[in-house]
Amino acid sequence: MTGAGDVAARATAGFRQRYGGEPAGRWAAPGRVNLIGEHTDYNDGFVLPFALPLRTVVAAAAADDGRWSVWSELDDEPVEFGPAEADEPGRVDGWAAYVAGVVWALRAAGHTVPGARLAIASDVPVGSGLSSSAAIEAAVLAALVELGGLDLPAERWPRLAQRAENDYVGAPTGIMDQSAVIRGRSGHALFLDCRTEAVEQIPFDLGAAGLAVLVIDSRAPHRHADGEYAARRKSCERAAEALGVAALRDVATGDLDAALARLDDDETRRRVRHVVTEDQRVLDTVELLRAGRIRDIGPLLTASHASMRDDFEITVPEIDTAVEAALAARAYGARMTGGGFGGCVLALVDADAADAVADAVTAAYADRGFTAPGTLTVLPAGGATRLD
Ligand code: ADP
Ligand code: MG
Repeated sequence: MTGAGDVAARATAGFRQRYGGEPAGRWAAPGRVNLIGEHTDYNDGFVLPFALPLRTVVAAAAADDGRWSVWSELDDEPVEFGPAEADEPGRVDGWAAYVAGVVWALRAAGHTVPGARLAIASDVPVGSGLSSSAAIEAAVLAALVELGGLDLPAERWPRLAQRAENDYVGAPTGIMDQSAVIRGRSGHALFLDCRTEAVEQIPFDLGAAGLAVLVIDSRAPHRHADGEYAARRKSCERAAEALGVAALRDVATGDLDAALARLDDDETRRRVRHVVTEDQRVLDTVELLRAGRIRDIGPLLTASHASMRDDFEITVPEIDTAVEAALAARAYGARMTGGGFGGCVLALVDADAADAVADAVTAAYADRGFTAPGTLTVLPAGGATRLD
């Protein structure tokens, strides 16, 4: 992992090279990982993500021509657009749509967005499920809000960034990613109620406890992820309807057995059991963290994984291998994080054992003939901010 200084320096160097002169400032937003609470978001339930120490940095300055010019180190060519393109979702496509989408969402909410030149560098791996998309949205949003002196309190940023991604880019996502990367706080996880959108900072000071989270990029090719996601969602909606509740969040843990008895096929019963028990595991995790019992959340993480594997059926062999190897190497708990069918695994480990656990996972992958995993040791970091 490179330091935040390097990525900021790359953004500034990109700005100077593309546009000449100095940026007016640099704004950063992190990636995120979800500690626990999977496929609970669209069931109106609970999630518990935290912001990562990996960041996307935007070096930017206002431009008086009222247009936007954006360059990213991921691409050679800068992309330019004006109000006409920004006002029509889909007109700007490819990666720059995430930037145009933020301009669109701000304008649609009635704000006067200043023209700007933006140069973007990032340490957040793209497309690994660590939310590089929310990172770029939030960093651009932070830059434009400040360059334009817009009256927009940070509580309202997650919704706007989500709209950019849903309605301009066209990617259906919940509010979790944007909330985590905007509201995340160092040493804390963000407890989010996806029905009310209420958030609460939960102490999660891994560093002080001598702990760390090892994030393992499974490198598993995404297999039919979109179709499977849609199928899970549909099955949850149908089950809620059959049970006469607005969403599966409304099935209390104590009523689970009675609810399951009312469903007539085994697959739906297992889908419902995952969602209801997962919501409860998030609540139990929050209680333990509030009591400062970080190590004790390990079994909840591992139980979450078993539920995703056996009941929700969204894991793949690479993911299960990483979890098993991490647990065998004495992680306190481990689980897949993210929507499934690939993506990342996280493991709660003693900080000084993180390398050994990473080596054990890499060795298990080699035994099975899988492409080597990526590994990264992290502590919960802060959300979107101005750097200087
Ligand atoms: P994830 O959010 O899990 O990383 P997504 O598919 O949601 O994956 O978002 C990845 C997309 O976001 C990229 O394909 C690209 O279009 C855009 N993106 C993310 N970070 C950057 C960046 N630094 N520069 C340009 N585009 C980026
Ligand atoms: Mg994303």
